[in-house]
Amino acid sequence: MLPHNSELRHRTMINYRIEIADLHAHLFKVTLTVAKPCAKQHLSLPVWIPGSYLVREFARHLSPLSATQKELAVPVHQVGKAAWEVDCSADAPLTVSYEVYAFDTSVRAAFLDSRRGFFNGTSVFLCVSGHQHDEHKVRIHGLPKGWQVATGLLPLKVTSTGAGDYSAPDYDALVDHPVELGPFWRGQFKARGVPHELIVSGASADFDGERLLADTRRICEAQIMFWHGRRKPPFERYVFLLNAVEDGYGGLEHRNSTALICARKDLPRVGRATPTDAYQTLQGLISHEYFHTWNVKRIKPKEFAPYDYGQENHTRLLWFFEGFTSYYDDQFLLRTGLIDAKAYLKLVSKTVNQVQATPGRHRYSVAQASFDAWTRYYRPDENTANATVSYYTKGALVAMALDLSLRQLTPANEAPQPTLDGVMKRLWQLDRPIDEDDIAQALEAEAGQPPTAAGVWSWKDLLAEWVHGTRDLPLQALLTAFGVRWTAKSGSPAQRLGMRISESSGALKVQAVMRGSQAELTGLSAGDELIALDGWRLRRPDDLVQWLDEKRDQPLLICRDQHIMSLTLRSHASDTARPHAGVAEQVVLTVDDKAGTPASTLRAAWLTL
Ligand code: ZN
Repeated sequence: MLPHNSELRHRTMINYRIEIADLHAHLFKVTLTVAKPCAKQHLSLPVWIPGSYLVREFARHLSPLSATQKELAVPVHQVGKAAWEVDCSADAPLTVSYEVYAFDTSVRAAFLDSRRGFFNGTSVFLCVSGHQHDEHKVRIHGLPKGWQVATGLLPLKVTSTGAGDYSAPDYDALVDHPVELGPFWRGQFKARGVPHELIVSGASADFDGERLLADTRRICEAQIMFWHGRRKPPFERYVFLLNAVEDGYGGLEHRNSTALICARKDLPRVGRATPTDAYQTLQGLISHEYFHTWNVKRIKPKEFAPYDYGQENHTRLLWFFEGFTSYYDDQFLLRTGLIDAKAYLKLVSKTVNQVQATPGRHRYSVAQASFDAWTRYYRPDENTANATVSYYTKGALVAMALDLSLRQLTPANEAPQPTLDGVMKRLWQLDRPIDEDDIAQALEAEAGQPPTAAGVWSWKDLLAEWVHGTRDLPLQALLTAFGVRWTAKSGSPAQRLGMRISESSGALKVQAVMRGSQAELTGLSAGDELIALDGWRLRRPDDLVQWLDEKRDQPLLICRDQHIMSLTLRSHASDTARPHAGVAEQVVLTVDDKAGTPASTLRAAWLTL
C-alpha cells in the first residue's frame, strides 16, 4: 500500500540520480541523497539478485564511495565486502557518490557501452539502512541523443524519451525494476485491458515486431485468464525488456517486467521464413518469465519473505517455483495454439531425456538440489551431472506427473475435474508466502486422496517420494494411461558409454564422465582427448559409431596433459559388477492413435485437442 501524500511529506526520502559518467569506460555515476540520515549511516549493496541464485558480489564493480554533508567531505569506512559506514551526523542531508563499472551482458547486473545501457537496482543502488521501507526516488539523467528509457518503475515526471524521475514504494520495489537505455524498438499491446510494452534492443532492421507482439499477447491473455478469469491482474502495466545479441539466452523475472536475452537470429524477420524451433524456444522463455509474475514474485516461498540481500537465501522449493513454471511455460504455448500436441510432446521428450542423462538424480532429490542451487546448479562444472539434478527439468516432470495423477481421478459429484491448474489457483488464493505443506494441502483440497496407482495414501507422502526421493518418476505408466506412446531408442555411442564429448578442430574431447559408467570404468576423465580406438584415428563423434564394438574390450589411445596414454575401453559384457549408468536410451513421445477411448479422452483434455 502507498502512503498518503501528507504522510510522504513527513518521511525521509531516499533519492538517487543515475547518469552516464563515461560510455567507453562503461561507467555509470550514482549520486545518493539521504534527506534524514542516521548518525554513522550504514549503507550496503546486495550480493545477489532475486531469481538468480548465486552470490555475485556486485560491490566489486563500485568505485570508492565519497560522501559530503553541509558541503564538507565526511569519511566513509568500508565495514564488509558490500557494506559501508559513513561518519555523518543526523542533522543534515547526506550525499554519497560513486561510479559503477557496467559491462555484464547478462540480465543479472549492469551494462553500458556506446550502443545501449541496462541496469538492475541490485547492481547500482546502495541500500540505506533504516530506510528500506521508505519511498525511493530515481532520476535518470544525461542520456546520449536518441536514447530512450524503458522500465516498469512508476514514472513521476519524465520527458518524451523517458528521462526524468521515477518512484518506488520501498527498496525491494526499487531493485525489482530493471531499466533499459538506448535507441531500442518499442511495441505495445493490451492484454485483458492491461497495457504491455515490448522493448527490443539490438534487433536487425527487418525484425518482425508485429509478429512477436501478436504472439506475446496471446501468451499474456491466456495467463491472465488462467489466474484471474475476467478480473484484472495484480499489476497496472507490464514491460518486456528483450536484448538481442549474437548468441545468448536467458531471462529474469520481476514483479511487472522481465529482462530477456536472445540470439538475434532467433527473432522473426519480415519476409523470411521463421526459425521455428529457436523462435518457439524464445516464446517459451517469454511464457516462463511472465508466469513467474505470479509464481515466485507473488506466490513465494516463506524463505523469500523478506529477501536477505546480504547472503544466500536457501529454499527447498525451487522444484516448485522453477519446475512448475517450466511445466506451464510450454503448456501455455500449447493452450494458445502457438505449438501443436506433436511439438509439445517433443518438448516433453527433451525434458525427460535431460533428466535421464543426469546420474545425480539417483543421489540428490529435487528438494536438496533446490537448497544447494547456489553452490551446485549455479556453479556448473564437469561433475555437475553427478552432483545434482536440475530442479527446472525434474521439477517440470514432477508438475506433469502430479497433473496427470490429478486428471486420472474421477471428480466427486458435480465438482470440476481435479487438475494442477486448480492447485495453482488455490495457492494463489492463500495470498501469502507458502511452504511445502501448503502445496500438499492444496493438492488434497483439489482432489482428496491421490489415485490408488500412486501407492500412497496422501499427497504429502507422494511429495515425499517424488520431491524428497531419488527414484525415477512413474512417467511411462502415466503417459501411457494418457494415450502417449513411449518409445525408447538407443542413444549415441558417447551416451551409451556415459560421457559427454565435444569436437573442435578435429579433436574429440571428453567434457564430462557419468558416475558408474563404462567411460569411468575405463579410466577416462574430463579434459581427455580421444585419439584412437582399436587402432583407428578418432576425429569426429561419428568415428566412434564406426569403430566402437560394445561386445569386446578395445584399446583406446588418449592424450591427457600432453601425455599419451593407452587405456582399455571396457565393454558392457566385461564388467557386470557395477550398474551401467550410461544413457543407453533416448525417449521419444508421440500421440498413440491406437490408444483406447479412456486414454484418448484423458489425452484430449490434457493436450487441449
Ligand atoms: Zn524461472
